[in-house]
Amino acid sequence: MSSKELITFINPVTRLGNKKYSYFTPAVTTFIAFIIIEIYAFFIVKDPLAVGMPAIISAFVSTIYFAFRDGIRGGIIASLLSVLYYFYIIYSRHYVGDQLESGIQVSLFLGVIYLAIGYLIGWLRQRVDNLIEREANEKIRLQSILQQLPVGVLITNNKGKIEYINKQLDLIVGNKIAVGKKLASQYSTVYSTITRVINNKKTLSNKEFVIERADKRKFYIRINASPIFDKNGKFMAAASIVDDITNDREMELRKDDFINMASHELKTPMTSMNLYISSLEDKVKSNRNKKLNYVVSNMKIQIDRLQRIINELLDVSRIQTGKLAFSKDYFRLDQMLEETIGMLQETTKQKIIFSKRGPIKINADRFRIYQVVTNLLSNAIKYSGRKGDIVISLKRAKKDAIVSVSDLGIGISKENQIKIFDKLYQVGDSVEKTYPGFGMGLYIAKEIIKRHKGKIWVESEKEKGSTFYFSLPLK
Ligand code: ADP
Repeated sequence: MSSKELITFINPVTRLGNKKYSYFTPAVTTFIAFIIIEIYAFFIVKDPLAVGMPAIISAFVSTIYFAFRDGIRGGIIASLLSVLYYFYIIYSRHYVGDQLESGIQVSLFLGVIYLAIGYLIGWLRQRVDNLIEREANEKIRLQSILQQLPVGVLITNNKGKIEYINKQLDLIVGNKIAVGKKLASQYSTVYSTITRVINNKKTLSNKEFVIERADKRKFYIRINASPIFDKNGKFMAAASIVDDITNDREMELRKDDFINMASHELKTPMTSMNLYISSLEDKVKSNRNKKLNYVVSNMKIQIDRLQRIINELLDVSRIQTGKLAFSKDYFRLDQMLEETIGMLQETTKQKIIFSKRGPIKINADRFRIYQVVTNLLSNAIKYSGRKGDIVISLKRAKKDAIVSVSDLGIGISKENQIKIFDKLYQVGDSVEKTYPGFGMGLYIAKEIIKRHKGKIWVESEKEKGSTFYFSLPLK
C-alpha cells in the first residue's frame, strides 16, 4: 500500500464522495481496540477493573470515526460492538447485585447514545456523498452534451487560457488543441476575437476566419463568442462556438466563378446583338411597315432588359473580384437626379416628384451614382404597384448630401430590411415573388455607395411603403 493509499484508507475526508462503505474495517478495528484495552488492564496496570474510562472513550471515538468513514453501517457496527464489549466486561468481571444492575443500565444507556450518534453521523456522511455524486453526474452529463455537439466548443477562462474544448473542435481544425494554455499562434485571429470578448465583455457574432491546416489546406470557420458571468455577475469565462463553413464557402466561390464566367460569355454576343438591332431599327424606321416597327421596337426593349441583367451580373462579378473601378468627377447631384427622373418618368404613368434644396455638388463616379438612383427609382416603381406618387428628395446634412426615394408600395418587413442589401437576396413572400428580378441591384448599389464612403439604408413598413436613403460625403 502506498503512502497515498494509506492516507485515503485512514483519513475519512479523502473518502468523501466515495460510496464504498466497509463492514470489515470498522468491525476488525473496533475489536482490536478492545483487545488492546484488555491487555492494558491485565498486563500494564494489572487491574482488571481499570477498563471503564478507556472503554467509554474508545467506543465514542470508534463510533464517530467509523460513522464518518463508513456511513450508517460503520456507525452501527462500532456502537453495537461497544455494547457487546461492555456486556463482556460485566460478564468477565463477575459483577453481581447492584453492580450488575447498574452496569447493565449504563451499558444500555450508552449503547443507545452510541447508536444515535453513529446513525446520525453516518446518515450525514451518506447525504454528503449523494450530493457530491449528483454534482459529479451533472458535470459528466453537461460535458458529454458538449462533447457530442455538432459544433466546435472552446471555453477559456477570464485570462484567455483554454479550459475546455470538445472533440468536434479538434476535428474542425484537424489538430489537437492543448487545454490549460492560450491558443497557439497559428490561430492568432481566433485568439484576438476571444481577447476582444474578454476585454469588452460583449458577444461577438458570426466572425469568419480562414485558417491553414497542418496539411496546408485552407479551411473556413465561423465563430460566435460570448462572455460568461457567474451568479454575482462577475465575468469568469468566454465560450465560443466554432462552425466549419468550408463547404458553404467553396460552394459560394464556385457560384461566384460561375456568375463571373457566364456574364463574360454573355457579353460578346450581346454586343453584336446590340449593333444588329440598331442597324435594323434604322432600316425599319424608313420603311413604314407598322407590324415590323412594332416587332423591332419590342425586340429592342427586351434586348435592353437583357443588357441590364448582364451588366448587373458583370458588376456583381467585378465586386467579387475586387475589380469594380470608379472614375470620380465633380458634378451637380441635383441636376443628375433631375435628368434621371426625366428619363424614368417616360417609362411610367406614376408621378415622380422631386423635392430639392438648391444646387449640391459632389465628387463621385457620375455613372455609378446614376446607376444607384435608377435602381432605387425603378424598384420604387416596380414595388409600388402603381399606387401613390414616388417622391425623391435631396438634402444637405452637415457633411453629407442625402438622397431619399419614397414609395407607398408593398413595403419590407423589419427582418428583411438588412438582407435585401445582400447579394442575390430577394424577399421570398408570395407577393414579392410575383415581381421579376434577381436581387442584384441593391447589392451593387450598396457596394457603390460604400466605396464612395457613403451609407445606404431603408425605412419601411409592410403594406405602407418604403423610403430608401443614401448619403455621400460632400468633400
Ligand atoms: P430585384 O429588384 O432585382 O429583385 P434588388 O436588389 O433591387 O433586386 O432588391 C432586392 C429586394 O428588395 C427585392 O427583391 C424586393 O423584395 C425588395 N425591395 C427593393 N426595393 C423595394 C421597394 N421599394 N419596396 C419593396 N420592396 C423592395
